[in-house]
Amino acid sequence: MTDRVIIMSSKLEEEGYRLTAARLAILAGLIDSEGHVSADKLVDIVRQNHPGVGRMTVYRTLDLLTELGLIRPVYQGSAAAHYVLMDNGHHHHLVCSQCNQVIEFDQCVLREIEQAVSSHYRFEIHGHLLEIYGRCQACQD
Ligand SMILES: [Zn+2]
Ligand SMILES: [Zn+2]
Ligand SMILES: [Zn+2]
Repeated sequence: MTDRVIIMSSKLEEEGYRLTAARLAILAGLIDSEGHVSADKLVDIVRQNHPGVGRMTVYRTLDLLTELGLIRPVYQGSAAAHYVLMDNGHHHHLVCSQCNQVIEFDQCVLREIEQAVSSHYRFEIHGHLLEIYGRCQACQD
């Protein structure tokens, strides 16, 4: 198990959920695919090593992980949702509207804004998912 699987699974335990083999396999599958994966694709990935894991178990676990703030579904166009990892509290994308390429970036400028809106609205913040749309360098040529 990678550190990231251990960190995410300890969050499940903290919230009182049992660490079943299926849940661990699903977490590992999400992390191995860098969290950019649809539910159906994740079913395929998990079943490569754990053929007994049912489709509904994967769906329910994705709902649970979303509820706990560890992942978020991202909807792009009419395709099925992709799940992205939110275990470190934030996730940022540049999305090219022309070729649909998604570029990850780490620079975060939202922490200050989070603090400001948190105190203004008395809102308890758990994280953010930022998507910036436009045209990538290749599509501008
Ligand atoms: Zn592009
Ligand atoms: Zn991403
Ligand atoms: Zn951020």
